[in-house]
Amino acid sequence: MDRTDTDLIIAGGGLAGATLALALAREVPTLRVTVVETFPLSPEALPADYQPSYDARSTALAWGSRLIFDALGLWPELSRHATPIRHIHVSDRGRFGATRLHARDHHQDALGYVADNRWMGLCLMRALQDTSVRWRAPAEVLDMMPGESGVEVTIREQGEQQILTGQCLVVADGGRSGLREKLGFVTHTERYGQNALIANVTTSESHRFTAYERFTDSGPMALLPHDAPGEPGHQSALVWTLNDEALAEILALSDEGRCQRLQDRFGWRLGRFTRIGECHHYPLALTTVDAPVRSGVALVGNAAHALHPVAGQGFNLALRGLMTLVEQFRNAHEQGRSIGELSVLGAYEQHHRQDWQQTVRFSDSLIRVFGQSLPVVAAARDAGLVGLDMIPGAKRWFARQAMGTGGRKPVLSSSNRSGRKAVPNGQQNG
Ligand SMILES: Cc1cc2nc3c(=O)[nH]c(=O)nc-3n(C[C@H](O)[C@H](O)[C@H](O)COP(=O)(O)OP(=O)(O)OC[C@H]3O[C@@H](n4cnc5c(N)ncnc54)[C@H](O)[C@@H]3O)c2cc1C
Repeated sequence: MDRTDTDLIIAGGGLAGATLALALAREVPTLRVTVVETFPLSPEALPADYQPSYDARSTALAWGSRLIFDALGLWPELSRHATPIRHIHVSDRGRFGATRLHARDHHQDALGYVADNRWMGLCLMRALQDTSVRWRAPAEVLDMMPGESGVEVTIREQGEQQILTGQCLVVADGGRSGLREKLGFVTHTERYGQNALIANVTTSESHRFTAYERFTDSGPMALLPHDAPGEPGHQSALVWTLNDEALAEILALSDEGRCQRLQDRFGWRLGRFTRIGECHHYPLALTTVDAPVRSGVALVGNAAHALHPVAGQGFNLALRGLMTLVEQFRNAHEQGRSIGELSVLGAYEQHHRQDWQQTVRFSDSLIRVFGQSLPVVAAARDAGLVGLDMIPGAKRWFARQAMGTGGRKPVLSSSNRSGRKAVPNGQQNG
Protein backbone atom coordinates (compact mmCIF):
# COMPACT_ATOMS: atom_id res chain seq x y z
CA MET A 1 0.00 0.00 0.00
CA ASP A 2 1.28 3.51 -0.86
CA ARG A 3 2.29 5.64 2.17
CA THR A 4 2.45 9.45 2.14
CA ASP A 5 3.73 11.55 5.03
CA THR A 6 2.22 14.93 5.87
CA ASP A 7 1.77 16.96 9.10
CA LEU A 8 -1.99 17.38 9.36
CA ILE A 9 -4.78 15.34 7.78
CA ILE A 10 -8.22 16.95 7.58
CA ALA A 11 -11.02 14.41 7.00
CA GLY A 12 -13.78 16.32 5.16
CA GLY A 13 -13.47 19.36 2.91
CA GLY A 14 -16.86 20.97 3.65
CA LEU A 15 -17.15 24.53 4.95
CA ALA A 16 -15.30 23.69 8.19
CA GLY A 17 -12.52 21.55 6.68
CA ALA A 18 -11.83 23.93 3.80
CA THR A 19 -11.79 27.00 6.07
CA LEU A 20 -9.38 25.30 8.47
CA ALA A 21 -7.07 24.40 5.56
CA LEU A 22 -7.08 27.99 4.31
CA ALA A 23 -6.50 29.46 7.78
CA LEU A 24 -3.52 27.14 8.29
CA ALA A 25 -2.10 28.02 4.88
CA ARG A 26 -2.25 31.70 5.93
CA GLU A 27 -1.11 31.32 9.55
CA VAL A 28 1.28 28.35 9.54
CA PRO A 29 2.43 28.09 5.91
CA THR A 30 5.22 25.64 6.72
CA LEU A 31 2.77 23.05 8.06
CA ARG A 32 2.02 20.35 5.48
CA VAL A 33 -1.77 20.00 5.27
CA THR A 34 -3.73 17.33 3.35
CA VAL A 35 -7.52 17.43 2.98
CA VAL A 36 -9.40 14.21 2.14
CA GLU A 37 -12.89 14.80 0.69
CA THR A 38 -15.43 12.28 -0.60
CA PHE A 39 -16.95 14.56 -3.24
CA PRO A 40 -15.04 15.48 -6.39
CA LEU A 41 -14.75 19.05 -5.13
CA SER A 42 -11.28 20.49 -4.94
CA PRO A 43 -9.30 23.59 -5.92
CA GLU A 44 -8.16 21.65 -9.00
CA ALA A 45 -11.69 20.67 -9.99
CA LEU A 46 -13.63 23.88 -9.44
CA PRO A 47 -17.33 23.74 -10.27
CA ALA A 48 -18.67 25.81 -13.15
CA ASP A 49 -18.83 29.52 -12.48
CA TYR A 50 -21.07 30.70 -9.70
CA GLN A 51 -24.69 30.91 -10.76
CA PRO A 52 -26.93 31.93 -7.92
CA SER A 53 -30.12 29.95 -8.15
CA TYR A 54 -33.47 29.99 -6.49
CA ASP A 55 -32.77 26.79 -4.57
CA ALA A 56 -29.33 27.72 -3.22
CA ARG A 57 -28.86 27.16 0.55
CA SER A 58 -27.43 30.02 2.51
CA THR A 59 -25.76 30.69 5.86
CA ALA A 60 -26.14 33.63 8.19
CA LEU A 61 -22.63 34.85 8.99
CA ALA A 62 -22.32 36.80 12.22
CA TRP A 63 -20.26 40.01 12.32
CA GLY A 64 -17.53 38.10 14.15
CA SER A 65 -17.33 35.64 11.23
CA ARG A 66 -16.90 38.49 8.78
CA LEU A 67 -13.89 39.63 10.86
CA ILE A 68 -12.43 36.13 10.61
CA PHE A 69 -12.90 35.99 6.83
CA ASP A 70 -11.39 39.48 6.65
CA ALA A 71 -8.31 38.25 8.50
CA LEU A 72 -8.06 35.33 6.05
CA GLY A 73 -8.21 37.74 3.10
CA LEU A 74 -11.42 36.15 1.83
CA TRP A 75 -13.96 38.81 2.70
CA PRO A 76 -13.55 41.14 -0.34
CA GLU A 77 -14.49 38.23 -2.63
CA LEU A 78 -17.08 36.66 -0.31
CA SER A 79 -18.87 39.97 0.25
CA ARG A 80 -19.67 40.27 -3.48
CA HIS A 81 -22.63 37.93 -2.90
CA ALA A 82 -23.36 38.50 0.79
CA THR A 83 -26.40 40.49 1.90
CA PRO A 84 -25.91 42.60 5.03
CA ILE A 85 -28.25 42.18 7.99
CA ARG A 86 -28.68 45.69 9.39
CA HIS A 87 -31.60 44.97 11.70
CA ILE A 88 -32.86 41.92 13.60
CA HIS A 89 -36.49 41.73 14.63
CA VAL A 90 -37.52 39.00 17.09
CA SER A 91 -41.23 38.54 17.71
CA ASP A 92 -43.87 36.12 18.90
CA ARG A 93 -46.82 35.50 16.56
CA GLY A 94 -50.08 36.90 17.92
CA ARG A 95 -48.48 38.45 21.02
CA PHE A 96 -47.13 41.89 21.78
CA GLY A 97 -43.55 41.17 22.82
CA ALA A 98 -40.80 42.01 20.32
CA THR A 99 -37.17 43.01 20.38
CA ARG A 100 -35.15 44.84 17.75
CA LEU A 101 -31.43 45.14 17.17
CA HIS A 102 -29.86 47.72 14.87
CA ALA A 103 -26.30 47.66 13.53
CA ARG A 104 -25.99 51.43 13.93
CA ASP A 105 -26.55 51.09 17.71
CA HIS A 106 -23.38 48.98 17.74
CA HIS A 107 -21.49 51.40 15.48
CA GLN A 108 -21.25 48.84 12.73
CA ASP A 109 -22.32 48.52 9.14
CA ALA A 110 -24.10 45.21 9.73
CA LEU A 111 -24.98 42.76 12.49
CA GLY A 112 -24.17 39.93 10.11
CA TYR A 113 -24.52 38.78 6.50
CA VAL A 114 -26.31 36.11 4.51
CA ALA A 115 -24.14 34.24 2.02
CA ASP A 116 -24.85 31.37 -0.37
CA ASN A 117 -23.11 28.18 0.75
CA ARG A 118 -22.18 27.50 -2.87
CA TRP A 119 -20.54 30.90 -3.20
CA MET A 120 -18.64 30.44 0.08
CA GLY A 121 -17.40 27.06 -1.17
CA LEU A 122 -16.26 28.54 -4.47
CA CYS A 123 -14.42 31.43 -2.77
CA LEU A 124 -12.65 28.99 -0.42
CA MET A 125 -11.59 26.72 -3.30
CA ARG A 126 -10.29 29.64 -5.36
CA ALA A 127 -8.27 30.91 -2.40
CA LEU A 128 -6.89 27.42 -1.72
CA GLN A 129 -5.61 27.17 -5.30
CA ASP A 130 -2.72 29.47 -4.42
CA THR A 131 -1.64 27.55 -1.30
CA SER A 132 0.41 24.45 -0.62
CA VAL A 133 -2.57 22.56 0.83
CA ARG A 134 -2.84 19.11 -0.81
CA TRP A 135 -6.31 17.96 -1.76
CA ARG A 136 -7.24 14.27 -2.13
CA ALA A 137 -10.69 14.15 -3.79
CA PRO A 138 -12.71 12.19 -4.51
CA ALA A 139 -11.27 10.08 -1.73
CA GLU A 140 -12.70 8.66 1.47
CA VAL A 141 -11.22 8.20 4.94
CA LEU A 142 -11.81 4.57 5.84
CA ASP A 143 -9.88 4.05 9.04
CA MET A 144 -7.77 5.97 11.56
CA MET A 145 -5.22 5.13 14.24
CA PRO A 146 -4.45 8.30 16.24
CA GLY A 147 -1.99 8.40 19.15
CA GLU A 148 0.55 10.57 20.99
CA SER A 149 3.28 9.74 18.49
CA GLY A 150 1.20 10.50 15.40
CA VAL A 151 -1.66 9.25 13.31
CA GLU A 152 -2.10 6.75 10.52
CA VAL A 153 -5.10 7.19 8.22
CA THR A 154 -6.31 4.74 5.58
CA ILE A 155 -8.01 6.32 2.58
CA ARG A 156 -9.53 5.00 -0.63
CA GLU A 157 -8.79 7.01 -3.77
CA GLN A 158 -9.64 5.81 -7.27
CA GLY A 159 -10.43 2.36 -5.89
CA GLU A 160 -6.98 2.00 -4.27
CA GLN A 161 -6.30 1.98 -0.53
CA GLN A 162 -3.46 4.21 0.63
CA ILE A 163 -1.98 5.29 3.96
CA LEU A 164 -1.45 8.87 5.08
CA THR A 165 0.72 9.48 8.13
CA GLY A 166 0.96 12.72 10.10
CA GLN A 167 1.16 14.36 13.51
CA CYS A 168 -2.58 14.96 13.82
CA LEU A 169 -5.99 14.19 12.30
CA VAL A 170 -8.82 16.73 12.30
CA VAL A 171 -12.26 15.18 11.78
CA ALA A 172 -14.53 17.58 9.83
CA ASP A 173 -16.93 15.09 8.26
CA GLY A 174 -20.18 16.82 9.30
CA GLY A 175 -23.10 16.32 11.69
CA ARG A 176 -23.65 12.63 11.00
CA SER A 177 -19.95 12.04 11.43
CA GLY A 178 -19.23 8.39 10.79
CA LEU A 179 -15.57 8.91 11.72
CA ARG A 180 -16.45 10.31 15.16
CA GLU A 181 -18.50 7.16 15.85
CA LYS A 182 -15.72 4.96 14.57
CA LEU A 183 -13.25 6.64 16.93
CA GLY A 184 -15.64 6.04 19.84
CA PHE A 185 -16.16 9.69 20.95
CA VAL A 186 -18.98 9.96 23.51
CA THR A 187 -21.82 11.77 21.72
CA HIS A 188 -25.17 13.10 22.97
CA THR A 189 -27.98 13.57 20.49
CA GLU A 190 -31.26 15.10 21.48
CA ARG A 191 -33.92 15.16 18.81
CA TYR A 192 -36.25 18.15 18.80
CA GLY A 193 -39.00 16.19 17.00
CA GLN A 194 -38.95 18.98 14.44
CA ASN A 195 -37.65 19.63 10.95
CA ALA A 196 -36.19 22.71 9.29
CA LEU A 197 -37.76 23.56 5.97
CA ILE A 198 -35.44 25.74 3.89
CA ALA A 199 -36.41 27.76 0.82
CA ASN A 200 -35.85 31.11 -0.83
CA VAL A 201 -38.92 33.34 -1.00
CA THR A 202 -39.86 36.57 -2.78
CA THR A 203 -41.99 39.21 -1.09
CA SER A 204 -43.83 42.24 -2.42
CA GLU A 205 -42.21 44.54 0.18
CA SER A 206 -38.47 45.04 0.50
CA HIS A 207 -36.74 43.26 3.40
CA ARG A 208 -34.83 46.50 4.14
CA PHE A 209 -31.90 44.35 5.30
CA THR A 210 -33.90 42.99 8.23
CA ALA A 211 -33.64 39.43 9.58
CA TYR A 212 -36.87 38.27 11.19
CA GLU A 213 -36.89 35.63 13.89
CA ARG A 214 -40.51 34.78 14.54
CA PHE A 215 -41.84 32.33 17.11
CA THR A 216 -45.14 30.69 16.31
CA ASP A 217 -47.16 28.05 18.15
CA SER A 218 -46.00 25.48 15.58
CA GLY A 219 -42.30 26.40 15.96
CA PRO A 220 -39.84 29.18 15.21
CA MET A 221 -39.13 30.56 11.76
CA ALA A 222 -36.45 32.87 10.42
CA LEU A 223 -36.51 35.04 7.28
CA LEU A 224 -33.10 36.40 6.38
CA PRO A 225 -32.44 39.07 3.73
CA HIS A 226 -30.88 37.32 0.77
CA ASP A 227 -30.52 39.38 -2.37
CA ALA A 228 -30.57 37.69 -5.73
CA PRO A 229 -29.88 39.22 -9.14
CA GLY A 230 -33.09 40.58 -10.63
CA GLU A 231 -34.90 40.76 -7.31
CA PRO A 232 -32.73 43.02 -5.15
CA GLY A 233 -34.27 43.71 -1.80
CA HIS A 234 -37.19 41.34 -2.25
CA GLN A 235 -35.72 37.90 -1.65
CA SER A 236 -35.30 36.26 1.75
CA ALA A 237 -34.00 32.91 2.92
CA LEU A 238 -36.60 31.02 4.94
CA VAL A 239 -35.84 28.57 7.78
CA TRP A 240 -39.17 27.22 9.04
CA THR A 241 -39.36 24.77 11.93
CA LEU A 242 -42.18 22.24 11.62
CA ASN A 243 -43.11 18.95 13.25
CA ASP A 244 -43.41 15.86 11.03
CA GLU A 245 -47.13 16.24 10.49
CA ALA A 246 -47.00 19.95 9.61
CA LEU A 247 -44.03 19.33 7.31
CA ALA A 248 -45.91 16.60 5.41
CA GLU A 249 -48.88 18.96 5.07
CA ILE A 250 -46.75 21.81 3.68
CA LEU A 251 -44.90 19.52 1.28
CA ALA A 252 -48.22 18.29 -0.12
CA LEU A 253 -49.27 21.87 -0.99
CA SER A 254 -48.69 23.71 -4.28
CA ASP A 255 -46.25 26.66 -4.26
CA GLU A 256 -49.25 28.97 -4.01
CA GLY A 257 -50.58 27.01 -1.03
CA ARG A 258 -47.16 27.15 0.66
CA CYS A 259 -47.00 30.94 0.19
CA GLN A 260 -50.48 31.23 1.68
CA ARG A 261 -49.55 29.09 4.71
CA LEU A 262 -46.39 31.11 5.20
CA GLN A 263 -48.41 34.31 5.03
CA ASP A 264 -50.72 33.01 7.78
CA ARG A 265 -47.78 32.11 10.00
CA PHE A 266 -45.50 35.07 9.37
CA GLY A 267 -47.94 37.91 8.75
CA TRP A 268 -47.54 40.96 6.52
CA ARG A 269 -44.31 42.62 7.66
CA LEU A 270 -42.78 41.77 4.27
CA GLY A 271 -46.00 42.29 2.31
CA ARG A 272 -47.27 39.39 0.20
CA PHE A 273 -45.25 36.21 -0.36
CA THR A 274 -45.28 35.98 -4.15
CA ARG A 275 -42.91 33.08 -4.82
CA ILE A 276 -41.31 30.18 -2.98
CA GLY A 277 -38.37 28.24 -4.38
CA GLU A 278 -37.36 24.61 -4.06
CA CYS A 279 -37.92 23.36 -0.50
CA HIS A 280 -35.29 21.30 1.33
CA HIS A 281 -35.89 19.83 4.78
CA TYR A 282 -33.73 18.40 7.57
CA PRO A 283 -34.65 16.66 10.85
CA LEU A 284 -33.43 18.75 13.78
CA ALA A 285 -31.29 17.57 16.63
CA LEU A 286 -28.72 18.92 19.03
CA THR A 287 -25.56 16.84 18.90
CA THR A 288 -22.68 17.49 21.25
CA VAL A 289 -19.63 15.54 22.38
CA ASP A 290 -18.24 15.35 25.93
CA ALA A 291 -14.73 16.22 24.76
CA PRO A 292 -13.75 16.95 21.14
CA VAL A 293 -10.10 15.89 21.45
CA ARG A 294 -7.84 12.92 22.14
CA SER A 295 -4.15 12.41 21.53
CA GLY A 296 -3.60 12.95 17.81
CA VAL A 297 -7.20 13.78 16.89
CA ALA A 298 -9.63 16.72 17.15
CA LEU A 299 -13.25 17.14 16.06
CA VAL A 300 -14.38 20.42 14.45
CA GLY A 301 -17.47 21.91 12.76
CA ASN A 302 -20.67 19.92 12.83
CA ALA A 303 -18.74 16.80 13.83
CA ALA A 304 -18.05 18.55 17.17
CA HIS A 305 -21.42 20.27 17.65
CA ALA A 306 -24.53 20.39 15.46
CA LEU A 307 -27.12 22.96 16.56
CA HIS A 308 -30.68 23.96 15.66
CA PRO A 309 -30.35 26.26 12.62
CA VAL A 310 -32.98 28.81 13.54
CA ALA A 311 -30.59 31.01 15.50
CA GLY A 312 -27.98 30.72 12.69
CA GLN A 313 -25.15 29.89 15.08
CA GLY A 314 -23.71 26.56 13.87
CA PHE A 315 -21.12 27.60 11.33
CA ASN A 316 -20.29 30.78 13.23
CA LEU A 317 -19.46 28.74 16.33
CA ALA A 318 -17.48 26.32 14.16
CA LEU A 319 -15.42 29.18 12.69
CA ARG A 320 -14.45 30.49 16.13
CA GLY A 321 -13.42 26.98 17.14
CA LEU A 322 -11.32 26.61 13.99
CA MET A 323 -9.43 29.84 14.69
CA THR A 324 -8.75 28.69 18.25
CA LEU A 325 -7.36 25.43 16.90
CA VAL A 326 -5.20 27.27 14.36
CA GLU A 327 -3.80 29.43 17.17
CA GLN A 328 -2.79 26.32 19.17
CA PHE A 329 -1.31 24.59 16.10
CA ARG A 330 0.73 27.69 15.29
CA ASN A 331 2.07 28.01 18.85
CA ALA A 332 3.05 24.31 18.97
CA HIS A 333 4.63 24.39 15.51
CA GLU A 334 6.69 27.49 16.40
CA GLN A 335 7.89 25.76 19.58
CA GLY A 336 8.88 22.64 17.63
CA ARG A 337 6.26 20.48 19.37
CA SER A 338 3.99 17.96 17.68
CA ILE A 339 0.59 19.48 16.82
CA GLY A 340 -1.01 16.17 17.85
CA GLU A 341 0.14 16.37 21.48
CA LEU A 342 -2.73 16.11 23.94
CA SER A 343 -1.61 19.33 25.67
CA VAL A 344 -1.92 21.23 22.35
CA LEU A 345 -5.36 19.82 21.55
CA GLY A 346 -6.41 20.17 25.20
CA ALA A 347 -5.66 23.91 25.02
CA TYR A 348 -7.97 24.16 21.98
CA GLU A 349 -10.72 22.41 23.95
CA GLN A 350 -10.16 24.55 27.03
CA HIS A 351 -10.30 27.86 25.13
CA HIS A 352 -13.27 26.86 22.96
CA ARG A 353 -15.35 25.15 25.66
CA GLN A 354 -16.99 28.21 27.23
CA ASP A 355 -18.00 29.59 23.82
CA TRP A 356 -19.50 26.32 22.64
CA GLN A 357 -21.36 25.66 25.90
CA GLN A 358 -22.78 29.19 25.91
CA THR A 359 -23.77 29.05 22.23
CA VAL A 360 -25.40 25.63 22.64
CA ARG A 361 -27.36 26.96 25.66
CA PHE A 362 -28.37 30.10 23.74
CA SER A 363 -29.73 28.33 20.66
CA ASP A 364 -31.24 25.45 22.66
CA SER A 365 -33.08 27.79 25.04
CA LEU A 366 -34.43 29.83 22.12
CA ILE A 367 -36.12 26.65 20.91
CA ARG A 368 -37.29 25.44 24.31
CA VAL A 369 -38.63 28.77 25.54
CA PHE A 370 -40.00 29.98 22.22
CA GLY A 371 -41.20 26.64 20.90
CA GLN A 372 -43.90 26.28 23.60
CA SER A 373 -47.50 27.37 23.32
CA LEU A 374 -48.47 27.13 27.03
CA PRO A 375 -50.00 30.52 28.01
CA VAL A 376 -47.75 30.91 31.05
CA VAL A 377 -44.62 30.30 28.99
CA ALA A 378 -45.87 32.64 26.27
CA ALA A 379 -46.48 35.40 28.83
CA ALA A 380 -42.99 34.94 30.28
CA ARG A 381 -41.66 35.05 26.74
CA ASP A 382 -43.41 38.36 26.08
CA ALA A 383 -41.95 39.73 29.28
CA GLY A 384 -38.54 38.48 28.17
CA LEU A 385 -38.75 40.07 24.75
CA VAL A 386 -39.98 43.36 26.14
CA GLY A 387 -37.27 43.19 28.81
CA LEU A 388 -34.61 42.51 26.20
CA ASP A 389 -35.80 45.52 24.27
CA MET A 390 -35.77 47.84 27.25
CA ILE A 391 -32.78 46.74 29.30
CA PRO A 392 -29.59 47.88 27.55
CA GLY A 393 -27.35 45.28 29.28
CA ALA A 394 -29.65 42.40 28.33
CA LYS A 395 -29.95 43.65 24.80
CA ARG A 396 -26.19 44.05 24.47
CA TRP A 397 -25.71 40.46 25.65
CA PHE A 398 -28.29 39.24 23.12
CA ALA A 399 -26.60 41.31 20.38
CA ARG A 400 -23.20 39.83 21.21
CA GLN A 401 -24.62 36.31 20.87
CA ALA A 402 -26.24 37.17 17.55
CA MET A 403 -23.12 38.91 16.25
CA GLY A 404 -20.80 36.15 17.41
CA THR A 405 -18.50 38.55 19.22
CA GLY A 406 -19.17 37.53 22.83
CA GLY A 407 -16.48 34.90 23.38
CA ARG A 408 -12.70 34.88 23.63
CA LYS A 409 -10.97 36.07 20.44
CA PRO A 410 -8.19 33.85 19.15
CA VAL A 411 -4.99 35.73 18.44
CA LEU A 412 -4.03 35.21 14.83
CA SER A 413 -0.86 36.75 13.56
CA SER A 414 -1.59 39.49 11.04
CA SER A 415 -0.35 37.56 8.12
CA ASN A 416 -0.05 40.79 6.59
CA ARG A 417 1.89 41.00 3.54
CA SER A 418 -1.36 42.09 1.87
CA GLY A 419 -2.37 44.42 4.66
CA ARG A 420 -4.91 41.99 6.11
CA LYS A 421 -5.89 42.44 9.71
CA ALA A 422 -5.70 39.80 12.42
CA VAL A 423 -8.92 38.84 14.18
CA PRO A 424 -9.10 41.76 16.58
CA ASN A 425 -8.96 41.21 20.29
CA GLY A 426 -11.56 42.85 22.48
CA GLN A 427 -13.72 44.00 19.56
CA GLN A 428 -16.03 46.72 20.87
CA ASN A 429 -19.69 46.26 20.23
CA GLY A 430 -21.24 49.28 21.74
C1 LIG B 1 -30.84 23.76 7.47
C2 LIG B 1 -29.57 24.33 8.03
C3 LIG B 1 -29.39 25.72 8.05
C4 LIG B 1 -28.22 26.27 8.62
N1 LIG B 1 -28.08 27.62 8.68
C5 LIG B 1 -26.97 28.13 9.30
C6 LIG B 1 -26.80 29.54 9.44
O1 LIG B 1 -27.62 30.34 8.98
N2 LIG B 1 -25.67 30.01 10.08
C7 LIG B 1 -24.74 29.14 10.60
O2 LIG B 1 -23.76 29.59 11.21
N3 LIG B 1 -24.89 27.80 10.46
C8 LIG B 1 -25.96 27.29 9.83
N4 LIG B 1 -26.09 25.94 9.71
C9 LIG B 1 -24.99 25.09 10.13
C10 LIG B 1 -23.95 25.00 9.02
O3 LIG B 1 -24.54 24.64 7.79
C11 LIG B 1 -22.92 23.96 9.42
O4 LIG B 1 -22.33 24.39 10.62
C12 LIG B 1 -21.83 23.78 8.40
O5 LIG B 1 -22.34 23.42 7.15
C13 LIG B 1 -20.93 22.67 8.92
O6 LIG B 1 -20.00 22.36 8.01
P1 LIG B 1 -19.07 21.08 8.22
O7 LIG B 1 -17.93 21.30 7.27
O8 LIG B 1 -18.79 20.81 9.64
O9 LIG B 1 -19.95 19.82 7.72
P2 LIG B 1 -20.43 19.47 6.27
O10 LIG B 1 -20.80 20.67 5.52
O11 LIG B 1 -21.45 18.39 6.45
O12 LIG B 1 -19.13 18.86 5.54
C14 LIG B 1 -18.63 17.57 5.81
C15 LIG B 1 -17.76 17.14 4.62
O13 LIG B 1 -17.10 15.93 4.95
C16 LIG B 1 -17.13 15.05 3.83
N5 LIG B 1 -16.99 13.66 4.33
C17 LIG B 1 -17.89 12.96 5.08
N6 LIG B 1 -17.39 11.75 5.41
C18 LIG B 1 -16.14 11.68 4.86
C19 LIG B 1 -15.11 10.68 4.83
N7 LIG B 1 -15.27 9.49 5.45
N8 LIG B 1 -13.97 10.93 4.16
C20 LIG B 1 -13.78 12.13 3.53
N9 LIG B 1 -14.74 13.13 3.52
C21 LIG B 1 -15.89 12.89 4.18
C22 LIG B 1 -18.47 15.33 3.17
O14 LIG B 1 -18.46 14.97 1.80
C23 LIG B 1 -18.59 16.85 3.37
O15 LIG B 1 -18.06 17.59 2.28
C24 LIG B 1 -27.23 25.39 9.15
C25 LIG B 1 -27.42 24.00 9.09
C26 LIG B 1 -28.57 23.47 8.56
C27 LIG B 1 -28.78 21.96 8.53
